[in-house]
Amino acid sequence: MSKRNRSAGQPIDTAKLDRVVAGARRDAEKRLTGYREQSLRIHPWICGRCGREFTRKNLHELTVHHKDHNHDNNPPDGSNWENLCLYCHDNEHQRHVDQVRGYTGLAPKPSQTAKFNPFAGLSDMLEQGKDDKEQK
Ligand SMILES: [Zn+2]
Ligand SMILES: [Zn+2]
Repeated sequence: MSKRNRSAGQPIDTAKLDRVVAGARRDAEKRLTGYREQSLRIHPWICGRCGREFTRKNLHELTVHHKDHNHDNNPPDGSNWENLCLYCHDNEHQRHVDQVRGYTGLAPKPSQTAKFNPFAGLSDMLEQGKDDKEQK
């Protein structure tokens, strides 16, 4: 002898639950991949070291490196991000760790490192910039 209207009182609310779960999952993914997504949007899908090109298929192998190694430094213009493949990214960090520690155990001989100076052309460029300003 129930007077309840069964058609109006359906208590099952899975649709709402699904929405909540999906929303929470989206937020979590956004937090996790925020700067990576941004960097991939700004920069081409190419490794900044070896030049390997990436597509949607293997994009998970393209990672985002922080140039100053500070993961909290995420300027929206992408100036602190660099797209690197897994291997080059690994390399980059190994080099950084060696520099920070002043690591000598397995480091290459001084004669080998002396040949490679990544900032060789940089001082020239800076000098030119100065000249331009002084000429004004
Ligand atoms: Zn690479
Ligand atoms: Zn990195």
